[in-house]
Amino acid sequence: MNTSTHQLIIIGSGPAGLTAAIYAARSNLHPLVIDGNTPGGQLMSTTLVENWPGEKSILGPKLMTNIREHAQALGTQFLSEVIVKVDFSQHPFTLLTNRDTQLKTKSAIIATGATPKRLGIPGEDDYWGKGITTCAICDGAFYPNKKVIIVGGGDTAMEDASFLKKFTKDITIIQILDKLTASHAMQQRVINDPAINIIYNSTVAAVQGNDKHITSVTITNQKTKEKKEIPAEGLFIAIGLQPNSEPFKGQITTDDWGYIKTTNHTTTSVPGVFVAGDVQDYRYRQAVTSAGAGCMAALDAERYLSTIE
Ligand SMILES: Cc1cc2nc3c(=O)[nH]c(=O)nc-3n(C[C@H](O)[C@H](O)[C@H](O)COP(=O)(O)OP(=O)(O)OC[C@H]3O[C@@H](n4cnc5c(N)ncnc54)[C@H](O)[C@@H]3O)c2cc1C
Repeated sequence: MNTSTHQLIIIGSGPAGLTAAIYAARSNLHPLVIDGNTPGGQLMSTTLVENWPGEKSILGPKLMTNIREHAQALGTQFLSEVIVKVDFSQHPFTLLTNRDTQLKTKSAIIATGATPKRLGIPGEDDYWGKGITTCAICDGAFYPNKKVIIVGGGDTAMEDASFLKKFTKDITIIQILDKLTASHAMQQRVINDPAINIIYNSTVAAVQGNDKHITSVTITNQKTKEKKEIPAEGLFIAIGLQPNSEPFKGQITTDDWGYIKTTNHTTTSVPGVFVAGDVQDYRYRQAVTSAGAGCMAALDAERYLSTIE
């Protein structure tokens, strides 16, 4: 590993980080990508992706391998470690990994993504990607006229319900509280809709299936503790995402939920540190939008480096 000061270190190897690497490598910035715990990012945990331009249908892991090979072929270096601490108060910046590797860099792109929250219930791991997903926009089209369940009562759950109605009229929302927590406007979209049934005061306790796919979920009424099994072919978990911004706390401005704030396009509160993808963007949360942001961050980093040299 090169111990001299890097021009650009990209933290994260999902669509945002790898696209940033492609652009940075083509600008001769010799980027170093820090892989993190999930090389390839969130798409490694899904099956088919059918909204990546130019690929009618491709497995998520295959898509990410292709993008990684593209970045590698252009000279991107990779380090299979995790950033645990940074010091952005002095230039060049210092990054520390979980294996005590200390790195110095003139600029950085944070592309650490977000982690969808899971339910932590029996059957969830077994059927992840086999009927269980956290992305309705990505996977809704795989459930035409199917019986689907959405877990959650916030804006995301309401958006998911509205979106899934394009494909099926058999939607059940399971909400832990006795009311929805989504904004009034979002609630109005689903309440009284005959295609959408809402079960309050309830949680999903387990998922059952036939080895290939889910077939039902067990719900528990939180007031009576009564359990009930309901048939389901799709389970959409909409209880939020956790932005992976922990190592940067105190060094960079984040919002109340931990998403990194931008000041102008991809620039952050620290000149020379840029951000791209789901760690910043809680609105669109797509592979292609993250990749687009990665491109923007690399172009901004290139401009920044040319101004300090
Ligand atoms: C089940 C599922 C299905 C999906 N399907 C689709 C789809 O069909 N189409 C679509 O467009 N989008 C889909 N998405 C959304 C899409 O995956 C995300 O929007 C996209 O991956 C975000 O890209 P990203 O690069 O910002 O972050 P991520 O993909 O989250 O990647 C983050 C990267 O940062 C690394 N990292 C994290 N912390 C650290 C650290 N401390 N140090 C170093 N590295 C770190 C991780 O290892 C990872 O490599 C899906 C998401 C899920 C969960």
